Amino acid sequence: MRCAVISDIHANLTALETVLDDIADGVEQIWCLGDVVGYGPDPNACVDRVRREDMICVVGNHDWASLGKLDLDDFNPDARRACLWTQEQLSEENREFLDQLPASLVIGEFTLVHGSPRAPIWEYITHASIATENFYFFDTSVCLVGHTHVPTAFHLSEQGPAVCERSWLNGERNLDLSEGRWILNPGGVGQPRDGSPSSSYFILDTEEMRVETRRVSYDIESTQERMQRAGLPQSLITRLSFGW
Ligand code: ZN
Repeated sequence: MRCAVISDIHANLTALETVLDDIADGVEQIWCLGDVVGYGPDPNACVDRVRREDMICVVGNHDWASLGKLDLDDFNPDARRACLWTQEQLSEENREFLDQLPASLVIGEFTLVHGSPRAPIWEYITHASIATENFYFFDTSVCLVGHTHVPTAFHLSEQGPAVCERSWLNGERNLDLSEGRWILNPGGVGQPRDGSPSSSYFILDTEEMRVETRRVSYDIESTQERMQRAGLPQSLITRLSFGW
């Protein structure tokens, strides 16, 4: 099966629609790794679209925060302001949808979580040492994670030492997943943080065990204008131009 793997939409409808156009009809399923809302100006429109596309979705920390299920003191001031704004915006129907999302899912050889298999809501897998520990917390050969908004691969070889290797998935890359085990992050759709402002996602072939990183530019200014009108924090508006 060919599927698209997306993460961290963060209520950025322009980015989401651009990615969905880019995915086009070539996939059977879309897997979403959480944080549909938070930061951006279009929480309801993004949840509506996720529902309409029948995406298979796990929940993220910003989704929980927007439901009042996390302590907002754990967020930085700008993220907290955006969370409070999102809480006011979300329709009852969309709140219920986010509330029933699971924290983790297993589909064949793939585990899906937002943060990490050890702590699905909060842990960031940023380093090889953190990834190495997390390989003990899932049973499939691949774990798909989001949360850092940085497209990354961690590979634990079947030969070699029990320490994994990290590679940044800059630009458009192809990976053969047939050997060893992997923790893979497709990067962010709605708020990329790897220094490139374009949206990042994966096309995954679950039979061939191959993944392809895709980047697509969207109309950032149109999202920024809506954020401005909504009165969202300036730093969140500016960062979209730079991809950090
Ligand atoms: Zn996020």
